[in-house]
Amino acid sequence: MAGKKLTCFDCGQVNRVPEDRLGKAALCGVCGAKLMAGKVTEIDFATLQKAARNDDVPLVVDFWAPWCGPCRQMAPQYTQASGKLAGQARLVKLNTEAHPKASQKYAIRGIPMLAMFAGGQEKARQSGAMPAPAIVNWVMRAL
Ligand code: ZN
Repeated sequence: MAGKKLTCFDCGQVNRVPEDRLGKAALCGVCGAKLMAGKVTEIDFATLQKAARNDDVPLVVDFWAPWCGPCRQMAPQYTQASGKLAGQARLVKLNTEAHPKASQKYAIRGIPMLAMFAGGQEKARQSGAMPAPAIVNWVMRAL
């Protein structure tokens, strides 16, 4: 069956969406959430594992924690980048304090750290806070 796989960040359902419907209007078949909202979504470890394993649309993850100053500084930049990358990649955040298993599994040693997953593989990672244009450039290069 053709189409691109996308994990719903709200309910965790892996959806298969025909490419011609892969726009802002794409909705989860189970819960009705927008799949390509173009904004940053906070996800948990289980959803990250699912999305990293299944998603065909590139998934960018910001590994962060509330105690991390540079992470908090980068947050609005990341949100800006998310809007610019709408339709090309989905940007999410994972709180490593709340989900320490994620740091273990993905070998996160310093935060903030961005990682990109697509087609079941990690394509790139980059540590350190970046301004929005640098985030966009990094994602475009890694696509
Ligand atoms: Zn859903």
